[in-house]
Amino acid sequence: MIFLWLFIVSVVTIVIVVILLGRYLKEEGKHYEEKNTLLKKQMTSNIDHELRTPVTSIRGYLETLLACPDLPREKQHAFLERAYTQTLRLSELISDMALISKMEEKSSNFAKAEVDLCEVANEVFFEFDEKISAKGVVVENMITAPVVLPGNRTLLYTILRNMVENSLKYAGEGITLHLECCSKSDKRISLTYYDTGAGVPEEHIERIFERFYRVSEGRTRDDGGSGLGLSIVKNAVAFHGGSIKATNRNGGGLQFTFTLCR
Ligand code: ADP
Repeated sequence: MIFLWLFIVSVVTIVIVVILLGRYLKEEGKHYEEKNTLLKKQMTSNIDHELRTPVTSIRGYLETLLACPDLPREKQHAFLERAYTQTLRLSELISDMALISKMEEKSSNFAKAEVDLCEVANEVFFEFDEKISAKGVVVENMITAPVVLPGNRTLLYTILRNMVENSLKYAGEGITLHLECCSKSDKRISLTYYDTGAGVPEEHIERIFERFYRVSEGRTRDDGGSGLGLSIVKNAVAFHGGSIKATNRNGGGLQFTFTLCR
């Protein structure tokens, strides 16, 4: 008799658990869908706004030039230059967005091969050589021997390039850029990149990897930043099976700690 009761109680408990679990999953699914729809809406309105801004300004400059053929030559030149700068911003934005959607579509869009991070880092610092000298920046590249992993060269280049470019854009003058491979195992490589510049106000640091997120709208807009750079970095790190974290350094400056899988 006792076994029969035990059996009935177990069956009833299982049925209740299954019902509750079903409800929970349904609620979660609904919540996830709502969140996704909201994110998509925000993304679309961001894209719309980001594309509209440079296009409106190019249109304004060109309309003025067409409507006022007697404008002084210097003024005409200045307007053309501003319109040109906006076209550069526009094409940067379009290629950033194309890269993000390519990464999201399918990971097989990016082939993997043996890549040496030492070579990639040297190339990135070489690309910014002139800016580095002009701003009195010191480079401490501690990756002096090959660090090889199966990865996508373009994406690995993009990771380091974005970080260095950001330091040169936002961190200020006379700073140090430091890149280091902290540990390597058969499975994982841990890296640290930091600059000794201004850093990011603590209340913004959690959000800098979000798409279109800029700490200071006005200043970054002048520099032509799309707010997509670090979102690309995060996706590219994830493509390599790793994760990335940003922190402000005690002595000042922004630090990225990230891992890549081998
Ligand atoms: P953007 O494409 O506009 O440069 P990112 O996604 O690369 O945008 O960076 C997001 C924001 O984080 C930037 O607008 C900038 O304010 C801040 N940021 C990024 N890197 C640094 C840095 N090294 N020092 C200070 N601020 C930074």
